[in-house]
Amino acid sequence: MNSMQDQTVFKPLGDGPFQFACHRDIPCFTQCCARLRLVLTPYDIVRMKSRLRLSSEEFLEKYTETLIDPHHRFPLVKLKMNSRAEGSCPFVTESGCAIYEDRPEACRLYPVGRASATPDGATGSAHAYFLVVEPHCLGFQEDRTWTLEEWLRHEGIREYAAMNDPWRSIMTSSKSLGNPSHLSQKHQMFFMASYNLDKFRQFIFKSKFFDRFRVDSELKDILKIDDTRLMHFAFDWLKFSLFGEKTIPLSG
Ligand code: SF4
Ligand code: SF4
Repeated sequence: MNSMQDQTVFKPLGDGPFQFACHRDIPCFTQCCARLRLVLTPYDIVRMKSRLRLSSEEFLEKYTETLIDPHHRFPLVKLKMNSRAEGSCPFVTESGCAIYEDRPEACRLYPVGRASATPDGATGSAHAYFLVVEPHCLGFQEDRTWTLEEWLRHEGIREYAAMNDPWRSIMTSSKSLGNPSHLSQKHQMFFMASYNLDKFRQFIFKSKFFDRFRVDSELKDILKIDDTRLMHFAFDWLKFSLFGEKTIPLSG
């Protein structure tokens, strides 16, 4: 989550504790919820669209913008800030975040930032954490101290990491995408499987997908109703389709 503020300092986070607290009575309350480049992960979208009782298509249309970033091989999706001068997040209210229990991973991590790397073939991501010290954030003047582990646990980051790390390994993979003339089609596949899960569900159940892939009936029933299982299945399909990994068995 990057705000557009200047003078932000990024401090490496070693083993030692850091001092920080955020609460309703702090004078800067909600000031950080504006003018953000808030990139969403697949699991962020699952949580937010469920919270708002929207389909993934409706959520993407109403709340997001697609971002093509030269530092990433695949399209990103970011939360659309209000177009008024203050550029606030659509979910910020006077009393805080209206979707607090389902807020995105980047909002949970803040003021901690993370750089991720997942070497090809690795099962988990290697992360380097740092503090994002922005001038408007008064939370660093509070007395409460945290270790990194305490902060990650308090903010529910482990659950988000378990959900999103397989996707991050696709994002950061250096494996070839094959023929460059198929790149646009592969980007569309990536977008659907990563962000538009309801469309991916339609795709697998309304095409000849299950003629091509061997999926048992128990798993098919789960995929009809369980978004997180469908999301992981979509990641497996991406690894198969983008990189030729044998993640889903073929029929016959
Ligand atoms: S203390 Fe920092 S994180 Fe909390 S509301 Fe203020 S600016 Fe935002
Ligand atoms: S989603 Fe919630 S916590 Fe995140 S920027 Fe918006 S209002 Fe703030």
